[in-house]
Amino acid sequence: MKLFQFIFCLVVISSILSCNKKVSEDAIFYTDFDGSKLTKVEKTGANKYTAYISPAFEPVNKSPWFAFGISSKISKQIELKLNYGKYKHRYIPKLSIDKKNWEKIDSQKIKIDTSTGIATLKLNVSPQKLYVAAQEIESSEDTYLWMNQLLIKHPKINKIVAGKTVLNKNNYALEVDNDSIVNTIVLIARQHPPEVPGGTIAFKAFYEKLLSNYKTANTFRSKFNIYTFPLLNPDGADMGNWRHNANGVDLNRDWVDFTQPETQMVDKYLTYKTSQGKKIRFALDFHTSYSGPYLLILDSINEAKRNKVIPNWIPRIENNSTFKVEARRRAQSLPYCYNYFFNKFGCEAVTYEEGDEVDRDLIIKRAQVYAHEFMATLNKSNNF
Ligand SMILES: [Zn+2]
Repeated sequence: MKLFQFIFCLVVISSILSCNKKVSEDAIFYTDFDGSKLTKVEKTGANKYTAYISPAFEPVNKSPWFAFGISSKISKQIELKLNYGKYKHRYIPKLSIDKKNWEKIDSQKIKIDTSTGIATLKLNVSPQKLYVAAQEIESSEDTYLWMNQLLIKHPKINKIVAGKTVLNKNNYALEVDNDSIVNTIVLIARQHPPEVPGGTIAFKAFYEKLLSNYKTANTFRSKFNIYTFPLLNPDGADMGNWRHNANGVDLNRDWVDFTQPETQMVDKYLTYKTSQGKKIRFALDFHTSYSGPYLLILDSINEAKRNKVIPNWIPRIENNSTFKVEARRRAQSLPYCYNYFFNKFGCEAVTYEEGDEVDRDLIIKRAQVYAHEFMATLNKSNNF
């Protein structure tokens, strides 16, 4: 609540009235929840405000995450500028009153100045708190609630504390692990906090499809273990970071040096599992880009060595659905997560990228189709 009071007083200072009096007229801004990001607010005129948003760590790529609540004692419309300093507006604001159901702001109610990067919003505020965020807010608590519900539904999932975060919080893995099964796939999600469309929505739909009860999935789980890291960067998600973990490190550039507890945790866990005889056959790492959806795949150097999952999976998707797959090649020397899987375990891997503003139902549908065709591909493979 401290930050909220600080912000509230900033609003009041600019209006040169006492805190108590001004509260009946001014909008009140809230940052008292996990995932919030709002650096300061200024009142610039009658019902006009500017919200300043800056990253926790620099350098940082252009992922200007923002998330805050607003209320006012009387219902009215306000004009709110989102000012990112030297950065530019990227995400279409999403609005919610319960932090569960979200809608994009009406296109008539947002204007973007492409030269300054400032977005100007018209918002209807009232005594009921309105949440405004770059994407749907998914804090660690939200992901862990989903995890716990999944555990009730699927008793074969084993939830383990695989390590600690920078802030010394538990970091979890979910295992569907059968002693008699050697072949294993790995899913990693949300290294980058703002990347909720791919890192949370697509990931959950993909994983739930792997767990579902029908022939292709049942056959798949009779042949493959599934190790999952549903939220690799919980500190960053709860801090409202644009990109980094709590040490200011981009985790998806740390898969060669392993300087951070989150990446070290995955390496230690998988090193142990493979020492016990498990074989990692494929890995997916879930992200979001302004130019998604696409898959990042390893470059041609690796084609001779691989088990031809990707060359069979992609045509299956395209032949059996209306989805077209854009596969972008990257060199395997980069310190990205999926390269780690090839370089350490000799398995194919992809970075699964969704797009910032892709319709959420379409994201879920795509993840389900990709997951189904992924399982069908692996079920048929003679290479494992
Ligand atoms: Zn990412």
